[in-house]
Amino acid sequence: MRNRMIAGNWKMNKTFSEGVVLAQGIVDELAGGTGAVDVVIAPPAVDLKGVSEVLNQAGSSVALSAQNVYWEESGAYTGELAPAMLESVGATYCIIGHSERRGYFGETDEDVNRKAKALMAHGITPISCCGEPLEVREAGGHVAFVVEQIKADTAGLTITDPSKYVIAYEPIWAIGTGKTATADDAQEVCGAIRKTLVEIFGAETAQSIRILYGGSAKPENINGFLEKEDVDGALVGGASLKTDSFAAMVKSAMN
Ligand code: PEP
Repeated sequence: MRNRMIAGNWKMNKTFSEGVVLAQGIVDELAGGTGAVDVVIAPPAVDLKGVSEVLNQAGSSVALSAQNVYWEESGAYTGELAPAMLESVGATYCIIGHSERRGYFGETDEDVNRKAKALMAHGITPISCCGEPLEVREAGGHVAFVVEQIKADTAGLTITDPSKYVIAYEPIWAIGTGKTATADDAQEVCGAIRKTLVEIFGAETAQSIRILYGGSAKPENINGFLEKEDVDGALVGGASLKTDSFAAMVKSAMN
């Protein structure tokens, strides 16, 4: 049994005060509870502390995620954030391997793997992203491409609590473009991810790992994805920046 998850990736949007207002709006909108749906928001690093305070003061079940981490414990790594720093402001999740970090900042599968291990050593749940570029999809190599990413990203990982390792399948051509994969496209790859997880971790663990879809997910199309067997929720970019659209997606997942 996997609880559904809706996670909002704010990317490089919202100043500190704007972030606090958005977080408060989400908390208010979801004040009635979110049932068995795990809700996560990932503000920019400088907003984490403020958003954490909003969530704590409201006693909200909405969880806090960072958008990136470095795998070292501390030291001369200017500009980076260590897992213990995320922990200290209340982040219990962290996105890793997002295609924007892979594409613009050269994050590799090896980096993603090291980040996952560092986070898990601190009890922080990785939301580990994978997904193919358009040319790979057009050449029909998308399943093999993503399976290789999963194998590399999970190499040597020990998963003792499968609810604390989350994968997000995000076809790069569908992120921020308004172009969505169909629900069947998402299931094809998420199903292949699940099979790969079975091979790596065994069926029991693999059946309990959440696999999210991401890529222009919005209130109008979320239901189609959620109906699919191996899609356990969504990682949402643009539509997570407005209280009403994000809350609407959470409410769809509750049904
Ligand atoms: C994302 O960045 O993780 C994402 C899915 O963005 P969008 O929903 O805007 O496509």
